[in-house]
Amino acid sequence: DSFLARLRLTEPHLRSFLHVSDSVLAQARELDEKIQRNEELGPLAGVLVAVKDNICTAEMPSTAGSRVLEGYTPPYDATAVRKIKELGGIVVGKTNLDEFGMGSTTEGSAFQVTANPWDVSRVPGGSSGGSAAAVSARQCMVSLGSDTGGSVRQPASFCGVVGLKPTYGRVSRFGLMAYASSLDVIGCFGMSVADAGILLYAISGHDRLDASSSKREVPNLEAEFVSISSLDSKPLKGLRIGLIRETLDDGVDTGVTSAVRNAALHLEELGCFVNEVSLPSFSLGLPAYYILASSESSSNLSRYDGVRYGNQVPADELNSQYKDSRAKGFGSEVKRRILTGTYALSAGYYDANYKRAQQVRTIIRKSFKAALDEHDILISPAAPSAAYKIGEKKNDPLAMYAGDIMTVNVNLAGLPALVLPCGFVEGGSAGLPVGLQMIGAAFDEGKLLKVGHIFE
Ligand code: GLN
Repeated sequence: DSFLARLRLTEPHLRSFLHVSDSVLAQARELDEKIQRNEELGPLAGVLVAVKDNICTAEMPSTAGSRVLEGYTPPYDATAVRKIKELGGIVVGKTNLDEFGMGSTTEGSAFQVTANPWDVSRVPGGSSGGSAAAVSARQCMVSLGSDTGGSVRQPASFCGVVGLKPTYGRVSRFGLMAYASSLDVIGCFGMSVADAGILLYAISGHDRLDASSSKREVPNLEAEFVSISSLDSKPLKGLRIGLIRETLDDGVDTGVTSAVRNAALHLEELGCFVNEVSLPSFSLGLPAYYILASSESSSNLSRYDGVRYGNQVPADELNSQYKDSRAKGFGSEVKRRILTGTYALSAGYYDANYKRAQQVRTIIRKSFKAALDEHDILISPAAPSAAYKIGEKKNDPLAMYAGDIMTVNVNLAGLPALVLPCGFVEGGSAGLPVGLQMIGAAFDEGKLLKVGHIFE
């Protein structure tokens, strides 16, 4: 009741949700009745989860923020959603996003612009801006987002909440609408590291409906949230942390750099050994990412033809029906990606663009592997700045892309990363949050959660 009341109060200012479930209280009552009947409850019983609208839900529309899917309700739940429900979680609604996850501000939604709860004249980040704002404003307890190049981590940073991007393959992508399949992962938002970790634990594991989901056993992530004894002044003694030098270069706001340097000092106080580590290929991540992500999206989005899903623009002839449905259905950023990707993949340009970007991806993957052989965790800012004003970068796609510099490499390397608040810069009426990114070795989410939990 209280969460719903808060949702109603804040939603006119924030616009985080594209759809709110009308059965939340009924589901909660069912749980109450189970308690009265002494029936066993699942570990997520009564947990209110908001779900990004590019993740399929059988009882609610799933539009990916696009007109092309306006009014579309899938016939099934994504595996992550199914697991949450089976454990007793309640899906409160579907959250706003940049169309198909393409963007960094949530201004790219076809339906509405979401505001940052810290300052409603600013963006919440994106593309999972609705999910981040919803947790930040306590409209729900935890939420699901998706992260192809930073879409969980950057909005977590902008909204002052915890964002967790798992290793590629840790969570099934079944029911996540594909943007760039080799990069896409479902991730978690929470008010604390433990909340995000518990949600990740609930949705992790192999799924026969997603061939790229890993068969590795999922360790008990909840075991990482041990309380630290007040006598232990150095609970992270001996842990090796690498601060990525290239992420503190020019172009990063000084307030962000100093918050991250302070976080490094705090980790030292906790017993870590922190040094700077250089990843010379770091700046290559951005161009490689935008070529690969656009290429994959141009292929993935070909399924939206007005016949199989969602909106259809009637026409006399099949080809014009395809053309009109896509022309009217997709927004400008999605069209830009499809054009860029089609160009990068076309005969004659393939070697110079797509193939080369794949080679760069291999170099990046290797340089992260080498740095993580020497360190337990790498750290960096989650974004080069705090939340900026709505409209500020809307008409400058390159400036928007440049803001993804801190996060895209991690997707190219398929690694897990945790973002958590580490300070504030001036702005708004109460300051604006800054996020610290912790990057771990593949499938080492447990270590990230442990360190993050002790850090916060
Ligand atoms: N901003 C990046 C993009 O537009 C990342 C988006 C995402 O992770 N979904 O591609």
